[in-house]
Amino acid sequence: MPEGDTIFRSARALNLALQGRQVTSFETAYAQLAGVNDQAPVAGRAVERVESRGKWLLIHFTGDLILVTHMLMSGSWHIYRPGERWRRSRSHMRAVIATSDFVAVAFDVPVASFHTARSLERNTTIPRLGPDLLGGKFSEDEAIQRLQERGDDEIANALLNQQVVAGIGNVFKSEICFTCGVNPFAKVSTLPAAKLEQLLEASRRLMAANVNEGAGDRIVTYTGLRRTTGADNPTARLWVYGRRGKQCRRCGTLILMRKQGVGARSTYWCPECQPLPESPGLMPTQIEGSSAPIRRRKVGCG
Ligand SMILES: [Zn+2]
Repeated sequence: MPEGDTIFRSARALNLALQGRQVTSFETAYAQLAGVNDQAPVAGRAVERVESRGKWLLIHFTGDLILVTHMLMSGSWHIYRPGERWRRSRSHMRAVIATSDFVAVAFDVPVASFHTARSLERNTTIPRLGPDLLGGKFSEDEAIQRLQERGDDEIANALLNQQVVAGIGNVFKSEICFTCGVNPFAKVSTLPAAKLEQLLEASRRLMAANVNEGAGDRIVTYTGLRRTTGADNPTARLWVYGRRGKQCRRCGTLILMRKQGVGARSTYWCPECQPLPESPGLMPTQIEGSSAPIRRRKVGCG
């Protein structure tokens, strides 16, 4: 049975292949999906994003249409180039989403249905997203509660979990932790509620500042247009993300990177500005070859 992390990786791969692309054709072996497709064709829509929620995989199309699949025992999604030979027999095909560059094929997916945002919201078997950080009705209390329910999770993983709070991608995860002086590997339970509040406020601020530039790409992880330092110089846009081995912009210590969590996402942090809360008395290890801190400023949130 595919585990959550397999589905997460499938969603990530599908997102990279399909996001932003226009669907040129849609085909399905399920009568129910075909019926919806007849009424409201998938072809012609663009793929907004692909996400996983637990064992569910959701493909969002423009015009409020969402294809929801559950893998159960046997299901899988394959990505092919147009014209490439499929690795499974056509008799196992349940759905095909074709774009000019990639063809995504669902094989033996036993559960598949179309939803609108509203019907998805009402569905109780598909896990819901956490409070939307950029939504008008964002509830900080609910977000903090959802974070605290995952006390054993490392904070960067919890921030990235769309069922805790919706909207933080892999770049912002590292940037948010840095601006709040929080070690991304700290367990949520070791952080006081006030610190969680700070993290959420920083998240909303950073994301609101980027919402126009990063339009629509809520889960993708490229650094192209994101800006969190407030600097106009494009090379000075990010505090830590993508800066492994470079000097911290605040203290000059070398930025570290480690793979973290489900899907082994890259996490960047400054060991000096973001010490682990369990060892407040310990000085971070000085990295061999790093120069002394060039300047030091109090690290607050923002
Ligand atoms: Zn630093």
